Order: sequence, then structure tokens, then C-alpha cells
Amino acid sequence: MDKPDYAKAVSFIYNEVQDLYGVGVKASYIPALKSVDSKQFAMTLVDDQKNIYSVGDDKVNFSIQSVTKVFTLCMALNEVGEEIWGRMDREPSGKSFDSLIRLEEHHGVPSNPFLNSGAIVIADILLEFYGKHVIDRYLSFLRTVTGNKKISIDKTIFLSEKVTGHKNYAFARYMKSFGNIINDIDDVLDVYFSFCSVSLNNIDLAKAFYFLMNKGESLDGTRITSHRHCKRINSLMFTCGTYDEVGDFAYLVGLPAKSGVSGAIGGCLPGHYSVSVWSPELNIKGNSVLGYKALELLTTIIDKSYLS
Ligand code: GLN
Repeated sequence: MDKPDYAKAVSFIYNEVQDLYGVGVKASYIPALKSVDSKQFAMTLVDDQKNIYSVGDDKVNFSIQSVTKVFTLCMALNEVGEEIWGRMDREPSGKSFDSLIRLEEHHGVPSNPFLNSGAIVIADILLEFYGKHVIDRYLSFLRTVTGNKKISIDKTIFLSEKVTGHKNYAFARYMKSFGNIINDIDDVLDVYFSFCSVSLNNIDLAKAFYFLMNKGESLDGTRITSHRHCKRINSLMFTCGTYDEVGDFAYLVGLPAKSGVSGAIGGCLPGHYSVSVWSPELNIKGNSVLGYKALELLTTIIDKSYLS
């Protein structure tokens, strides 16, 4: 079968989504996210031959937000392994990423590692494992998978999250009451907010997802994780990666993907390509309006006959 014309696909999609500005709204509960220019969109695809196809505002930096949870989960699986499942489940919650309901029903055990509560437990696990080097280790992981040695934390976003992250403190305290947080709450939350505040651009993000489509090996040939872990992380993204819209997302897009409130979505089609989209305006569930549509179009029009 001929390789799809990815260059044509991304430029077609770029034009198609332009009418969607104004349909969604930017996240405002983290004040620093409000000041981002709404009218921005980027889409980047890296194919199995390492060709990069990119359109739009792909050099503008944004904060990674919940997309970070894919990489922190990967690190926890690498370092601690299956034991992490003693502290959280692997089920879609059917609730928003910052809902407390399931946590109460499940006695302080998060439904999955892509909810804020689950990612806070992962932050606790990584803090326990790496101690004071945890942030350096995380940045070094991201620098390897993106190939960008300048990846760092956006301090403004970090502080904005810290002063307004009351629900995240509530999750952590609640879980601690069940013994599901080991370290000091403030330390764990500083780690969690740092993970979410990493600044990168859309090309970095597509490159970062490459190892998940490539059986665990990054663009530069570094082994990031095992094929088995990739399979599992991709499965979790497919079932839990796009909030309580994951069923629709699976139906309309059909890729394992993870979204974040900055308007980023990263994903992959294993064996074929990794892909990222970014556009700050979100739908009611917290997924980027333009980004979601772009991915839906990608998996719909990639058939060459449609594009010619
Ligand atoms: N940093 C954000 C928070 O903790 C991440 C949420 C998200 O992207 N869904 O609320």
C-alpha cells in the first residue's frame, strides 16, 4: 500500500480547522493559561521513517499540562514496575480529571494514572524513588525523548498552578488519609506542578510520542522503555487519555492519545506515526476543539484517494 501523503494531509487539515476558533474557551482556572493567544493551532506528525510534517504555530511554546502524565507513568513503570498498580487502578473514571467522587468511592485509590489524583500518586512514587533529583531526572527524560536539550519548567505556570491548585491539594490530603501518599504533601504537589509546567512546542511533543509508536525507542535510537510498556501505556491512553470524553474520542479519532488543559494532545498510531496538536481553546470536557477535530480529520482523510 502506498504511504499516505502526510504533508498534504496536515496542510489540508490546517485549512479545515480555521473556522473553529471561538467555539471553545481557554482554561481559566490556572490564571497563567488565560494570557495565551487563543488563535493558535499547530499540528505535527512524525512518520516511521522519521520524516516530520508540521503546520501552524509549531514553534510557540506552551505548558505540557496533563500530557505530562504519559511520561511520568512511563518513568514509574520503568523504575518501579507493576507494583504501581497496588496504588491506583486502570479504569476510565467516567468523571472529569479533577473530580473527587470516584476517589471517595474507592477509598483514596485513583481510578487511573491520567487523572490528577493518579498523577499525584505517580509524583509521590517518583519522589520516593529519585529523591531531590526527581525534577532533573524528569527533565532529562523529556530532553531525551524530544531531542531538545533546552526543555525546562515555565516558572510562571508553576506558580500559577501552585497558588490556585486547591483541588489538587485536596486530592493529595484525601489520599494521604488512606496512606496512599507517602511524602510530605507540599513536596509531592511541587513535583506534580513542576511536571505539568514543562514548557515545549508542538514539534517537541510529536517527537516525544515517537517512542510510543516505535516499540519503546526514541527518534535518536535511545531505548526509553520496553515494547510491553509501550503497549500498556498506549492502551491506557486509549481507555483513559481524553478525560470523560474518551469514548467519543475513541469512536471519532481511534488513536491512543493524551490531552491537557493547555490545549495539547499527543498520540500515535503504533508502527506508523506519532502526532501532536495544540490549540488553546477547549470544549466543555477540556479537550482542544481544533486539536480534536484535526485528529478526527487525520484518521478519516488519510486514505490517499480522499486527498487527491
Ligand atoms: N495542571 C493541571 C491541573 O492539575 C493539569 C490538568 C489537565 O491538563 N487536565 O489541574
